[in-house]
Amino acid sequence: MSTSYQQQHKAGDLHFLKRLNRSAILELVRRTPGLTRADIATQAQLTKATVGAGVQSLLHQGWLREGELQKSSGGRPGRALHLNEERHVLFGAEVGVHGLRLVACALSGRVLESHHEHIVPTTPEATAELLAELLQGLMRAHMSDERRCLGLGVALPGPIAPGKPVLRLAPNLGWRDIRFLDLLRPHLSRLEGTWLMDNEAKAAAFGELYFRTGNIPESLVYVSAGTGIGSGMVEGSHLPLVARGIHGLAGEIGHTVLQPGGLYCHCGNRGCAETLVSGWSIRAALGIAEEEDLIETLLPRLHEPDVQVTLRRAGEALGILLLNLHHTQNPSEIVLGGSLTQLGAPLLDPALDYFKANQSRLLGTTQRVPLRVIQDSTFVAARGAAAQVLASIIHGPNELS
Ligand SMILES: [Zn+2]
Repeated sequence: MSTSYQQQHKAGDLHFLKRLNRSAILELVRRTPGLTRADIATQAQLTKATVGAGVQSLLHQGWLREGELQKSSGGRPGRALHLNEERHVLFGAEVGVHGLRLVACALSGRVLESHHEHIVPTTPEATAELLAELLQGLMRAHMSDERRCLGLGVALPGPIAPGKPVLRLAPNLGWRDIRFLDLLRPHLSRLEGTWLMDNEAKAAAFGELYFRTGNIPESLVYVSAGTGIGSGMVEGSHLPLVARGIHGLAGEIGHTVLQPGGLYCHCGNRGCAETLVSGWSIRAALGIAEEEDLIETLLPRLHEPDVQVTLRRAGEALGILLLNLHHTQNPSEIVLGGSLTQLGAPLLDPALDYFKANQSRLLGTTQRVPLRVIQDSTFVAARGAAAQVLASIIHGPNELS
């Protein structure tokens, strides 16, 4: 009995090791396209035989493809290895307060197709039905016998319960405790693979780090400035971990209080950052209706004094949030996205000026944290949710097939 058990255990270990090796090989090629088998053996500290067998099976299953012949510093030249972009598709979607954004992605995160649908806020059920209909369009175009679907990631505008697929609250939609994937599933029985959901800023942060190649930061904070304002922090270049907190609230900077006793926020507290810098507070200050597109309405009006004052105040509040993030999270890189970045200098200049002027004060260091503004971040969260699907497969418990 004990021999049989030991043999089984050993076989299990071997199986597990093989799976681990293949994940490690795939990760290396994903992060550094063009590596040869010899490069991988050196970097992963695996034998050439192990790498050879792992690469062979990843080629066979359509995860990798061979490219040009590479010169090597020693030994024989080897074939460059790249992700095979032709055999898999990942779907990502973001449910925003005023829009649905969808992507179909290849393994590298390259967007094969995207779609943005403007919506007026409605019920979770109606939103799920519309999203499913739009996803079916992408599925028809990108799922085939040659291209297998790996799954669907959905980004949502509120905190998600850690370890449970429940949207706890979307304050700007008035949704509470929504199992959004359960609402989608009946409409999408053909969409196979891994399904998951996350907060939109956390998904965006994850994608910004996970799909990066070459020089990868140790940690990254993504700030999403749209109808609301939130952030996501990811850390660790191999499999980035998302900071969540006990209730999923980590990164909810929109509800940090900047003005005690200030205006009421949608969350019920007073003086939250969102009452100063968010799409909804800018709408309220300038009397722009829900049905109108905020950015399209504001862009021709940027010269108007009341618009300038409102955006400058919002920008100053954004600068404070950025500085607070720098001091509380201290990430290697900050990425600022969300629809409000399209408003440009009137909002961004006061924010960036404040951040730059104050970020080094505490330590007196000259080493600055890079802050990158994404002008068009329409699909960043949807793509990030697709990245989370890929990561859960590469690093998950099941065999890569
Ligand atoms: Zn609030």
